[in-house]
Amino acid sequence: MRLHTDPFDHNPDPCIHPAGGHADANCSQIGRPLKSDNPSAPTAQTIALSDIDLSLGRGAARVHVLRGISLDVAPGEAVGLVGPSGSGKSTLLMVMAGLERPDSGRIFVEGTDLGSLDEDALARFRGRRIGIVFQAFHLVPTMTALENVALPLELADQPDAHRRAQVELEAVGLGHRLHHYPAQLSGGEQQRVAIARAIAPDPAILVADEPTGNLDEATGRQIVDLLFALKRDRGATLVLVTHDPGLARLCDRTVRLRSGRVEAPVPVQA
Ligand code: ADP
Ligand code: MG
Repeated sequence: MRLHTDPFDHNPDPCIHPAGGHADANCSQIGRPLKSDNPSAPTAQTIALSDIDLSLGRGAARVHVLRGISLDVAPGEAVGLVGPSGSGKSTLLMVMAGLERPDSGRIFVEGTDLGSLDEDALARFRGRRIGIVFQAFHLVPTMTALENVALPLELADQPDAHRRAQVELEAVGLGHRLHHYPAQLSGGEQQRVAIARAIAPDPAILVADEPTGNLDEATGRQIVDLLFALKRDRGATLVLVTHDPGLARLCDRTVRLRSGRVEAPVPVQA
């Protein structure tokens, strides 16, 4: 199992979190641009990954996590990433979100070659276009629920950040917890704050790591409704890591990972 550091101890900006939860990732690794031999972008796909390879850890702990992954996600599509624990799902999500740079391979998001962006440009791109829900929430512990959700809006210079944050928190059923700190919230409530924070800036792409993993069934359903409303009403593209067969069935398609490889794309039965 991977160790999770709290990235916001050092960096209170959820949009520019550099490590994606990987304990050994660091800024210089993240800041290293990939070679860009062919600048022409496959713009028809929202996310286009080709031949992604990534190893993590050092010495004896080094693991070849992603092994030649190629995957396209179409605009407005909902893809469920499934597979056994340790197969590389969370890592692949971080690569798609530009939080982890691969050792080799190319990533285009909405036609932009992420490997061609330096760290600042990548952070701006993420802040504008990608909402991220981490498995371990990564809320800022010294900020209230309202302040956590308002943060990405303020960073995007939205004038009514607190009002919009309140609306998003009400939508996830947390209108009565606006001024609570993360430590005063249950796991499920923290998960909902994290989801409200990811959704608030109205991202074109939302990636979420086991978004219903810590929730009871009723709350899980509410969250799923919210995620799919984002897809239905705003045309957002969703990539969801999940062990929940009900959630996987709602996706247009599931992609199964095994030992860092795509096993087989499975069309969802109607
Ligand atoms: P999943 O989300 O499918 O459970 P992960 O992407 O979290 O899988 O991890 C895939 C594999 O990579 C696991 O074997 C894990 O131990 C390993 N791994 C993940 N992060 C690191 C790291 N920072 N250092 C070493 N190994 C890692
Ligand atoms: Mg995982």
